Amino acid sequence: MTTQKATHQLTKQHNRDLVLMTIFNHDIISRADIARATNLTRTTVSDIVTVLLNEGLVKEVGFGSSQGGKSPILLSIAADSRFLVGLSLGKEKFIGAVVNLRGEIKDIVEFPVEDSNGEQALQLVYQILDQLIKKRKKSIAGIGVGTPGLINTREGIVLTSVNLDWQDLPLAQLIQKRYGLHVSILNDSQATAIGEYIYGGDHKEHKNMIVVNVKHGIGAGILINGRLFQGDGGGAGEIGHVVVEKNGALCRCGKHGCLETIASVSAVTQRVQTRVREGAKTSLPKNSHAITLDTIEAAFKSGDSLTRQVVLNAGHYLGISLANLIGTLNIQKIVLTGDMTRFGTEWFDAVQKAMHDAALTRMAQDTKLEIGTLDFKACVLGASALLTLDGYSLLFNQSSDS
Ligand SMILES: [Zn+2]
Repeated sequence: MTTQKATHQLTKQHNRDLVLMTIFNHDIISRADIARATNLTRTTVSDIVTVLLNEGLVKEVGFGSSQGGKSPILLSIAADSRFLVGLSLGKEKFIGAVVNLRGEIKDIVEFPVEDSNGEQALQLVYQILDQLIKKRKKSIAGIGVGTPGLINTREGIVLTSVNLDWQDLPLAQLIQKRYGLHVSILNDSQATAIGEYIYGGDHKEHKNMIVVNVKHGIGAGILINGRLFQGDGGGAGEIGHVVVEKNGALCRCGKHGCLETIASVSAVTQRVQTRVREGAKTSLPKNSHAITLDTIEAAFKSGDSLTRQVVLNAGHYLGISLANLIGTLNIQKIVLTGDMTRFGTEWFDAVQKAMHDAALTRMAQDTKLEIGTLDFKACVLGASALLTLDGYSLLFNQSSDS
C-alpha cells in the first residue's frame, strides 16, 4: 500500500470510528447533529452512516422535530447487532457474560473455581468461553478478560497471578488462537473500574475516578480523563500490596503487613477465625471452620464486638490507603466495590473517617467517597468494554475494511 493510500485508509477508519462513537454516546441522534458534533461534512457523515446501516450496527428509529425543512431521521445503535464477551476470574468463581453494545448482559455463566490453578484454571476459562461463544459465534466482536495479578495489557500477558498460579502466561494469544477473536486482558480491579465508570450511573460526568475493589484481594483502577491509567508497568493501583503495618501478617506476595493482610475479605475472615481460636468473646461458633464471610457479616450486623473490631479496623487501614491516593492523585471521586462493602454504612464510615484523618483536610473534604452500584457485574462489564479500550473498528466485519 502506498503511504498516501494508507493515510487515506486511516482517515477513513478514524472518521468511521468517530461517527460510530458519537452515535454510541447519544441515545438517538440525526445525521446533521453528528456532523455538528464531529466537524465532519454532512456528505462524509451520510456516507459513513450508509455503511453503518449496511453493517447493521446502526438503525433508523424515527423522525426528530423539524427545524424548518424536512424532519430529520434519527439514528441509534443497534444494541444487539454485535456482542462482546467479558470474563471475571475471581478467587472463588469465574464468571463469563455475553454483553450487547449497550452493556446489557444477555447470557451469564458461573463456574466455581475450587482451587483450580495453572493449566486447570486455563481449561476452565476455555470451558466458559466455549459455552458462551457457541450460541452467537458470528456476532461476537471480541473477548475481554479481567484477571487478578500483574498484567501486561499491551502484549496480553499475565506477568504474575498468585491466585491462579500463572506466570508469564500469554493468555490473550492463547484465547485468540482458539477462537479467532480479538482478545484483551486487564487486571480485575482495572476492569471493575471501567465497568463502574461506563455503566455504573452518573460517573461519566467526572473525568477522573478511582475505583477501589476490596474483596479477597485489594486493588484500585484509576481513570484519568475517562481512560484507564495503568502506569509504566501495568500495576497502577496495586495498593493491596503496599506494606501498612510493620511486622504484620505474612502476605501471599511474600511481604509482611500489606494492606491486603488487614483490610481484605480474606484478612478479616482469618483474623476473626484466629481470635475465635484464641478464645475471644463472640457470638460466632467456636469451630473456626464454620466462620465464613456470611457468618461474620451476620455477627457484625447484630453488634458482635469481636467482628466489629476486626471489620472496622480493616476499614480504618483502607481509609489510610485512600488518603495516600488522594495525596498522590487528588482525584475527587473514589468508588468502593467488592465483598467488603457488604459491611455497609459502619464500615464505610470507618473508611471515610480514616481517610479524612490521614489526608490534607481540604483535599479530603473535596473528595467524594461512595459505594459502587454494579456489584460483581462491574468486572465482566468492564472486561467486555473492549470498544473503549481497543476502538470501534472491532465491530466491523473484515469485508468493510477493504
Ligand atoms: Zn502483599
